[in-house]
Amino acid sequence: MGSAPGRPQGDKPQSTERASQPRSSRRRTQRASQPRSTRRRTTQRRNAKPRDARLPSSTPQAPAAEPVTGCLLIQVAAREPFEVLGLADRAGSGLVFTGAGAIEAMEAMRRHGWRRPMLADRRRYAGTTRVPGTASFVPSWLAGQRDAGISPVLTDSGYIGEGDVAALRSVLSQAAAAGADVTAVLPLHERWLHEDRATLIADIAAYGVPVALVLEHRDDPLGTPEGVAGLIELLRAAPSVAVLGTGIAGLAALAFGAQWTAVGVRGSLRLFPPTPSDDGTEHRKRRWRPAPREVVAAPVLSFGSLDTVVRAYAASEDGTVWACRCSRCRGRTPEWLAAAPALDADAHTFDVLLSYAERLRNREPGPAREQEWCAGCRQALRHYRELGLAGLGWEQPGVATAWASAEAAGCQPPLRSAG
Ligand SMILES: [Zn+2]
Repeated sequence: MGSAPGRPQGDKPQSTERASQPRSSRRRTQRASQPRSTRRRTTQRRNAKPRDARLPSSTPQAPAAEPVTGCLLIQVAAREPFEVLGLADRAGSGLVFTGAGAIEAMEAMRRHGWRRPMLADRRRYAGTTRVPGTASFVPSWLAGQRDAGISPVLTDSGYIGEGDVAALRSVLSQAAAAGADVTAVLPLHERWLHEDRATLIADIAAYGVPVALVLEHRDDPLGTPEGVAGLIELLRAAPSVAVLGTGIAGLAALAFGAQWTAVGVRGSLRLFPPTPSDDGTEHRKRRWRPAPREVVAAPVLSFGSLDTVVRAYAASEDGTVWACRCSRCRGRTPEWLAAAPALDADAHTFDVLLSYAERLRNREPGPAREQEWCAGCRQALRHYRELGLAGLGWEQPGVATAWASAEAAGCQPPLRSAG
């Protein structure tokens, strides 16, 4: 694939300004009761790598980044081919780089003049070597984002397990202490949005920090009635809620007032599954197989493997509903994507999603925007029935099903802020 300016091989030049900054080795004591602004601390990056002169700087002075509010971002790996990153180069979008190399990737993008929003998800909360939510943030992670001119700064939170109030409060208090530009990443066991959401909402309100949710689930955490109810209640109650690592539900969250959302460029970045030890199953080594190429099946508002989508189109009596008006398909039906490079499938997917997000943004925030989304879900369910997809082995689209009548709950006056 192409050479990626987003690859973490470069670093920032040495800054003489930092000489006067406090030592990063001092461990922070977290007292959220102290005003955040007085506790803001900038720290030197300890894990800085040598600057790589092979990456030319096309912009002597990096331009100011666009604001992230209202954006549907594309969540990518730290080492993502450059042509994939380009899919986010449009108004209303931007990038979330994932993993340890995210900051270097962002710095490289800034040097190349990238002006769309960029964020960094350390993802220390995922996988078999994840850290718990009680773990201290790494100061260089926060400082590195500030040095790169990124806003908001995302915390490198550990995992917040079932009922683990100590982990939740550890993340929130550290975030509150870290500065007003910090958003607390909350990687949550699914129970937090269900039975335990009163505690979750109360604690977020008490610490007063913006949050970005990462919702653990085997399938789709926002494709269940409990998940929908929990997210809507949280969006109503907290001033700033975003969602990381999501799929179609990223549109739902935007429609109902999320600050921003990030949709994974591939299945593994749209999902935060429990680790094998959590659900009692043995961790077994399995032969690695490439994940099937997934695309958005626009008529039914869901992701599906490209093969499945092409088969569904071939089986439909009237294929006109499959004709896609996105800028890449330009009226073509999905079989053309099967023979096209993978980038075309991704371009289709994100053009569909970003156009949809734009459609939502064009409606007034509140009931009008929520109704627009719910009406789209109902139309997706109609298409599902009319296309006979159940007979082809398709499950009913989970997100569309769960959100089809969500505005009834979402628009009730008592849930509105009293102002
Ligand atoms: Zn398309």
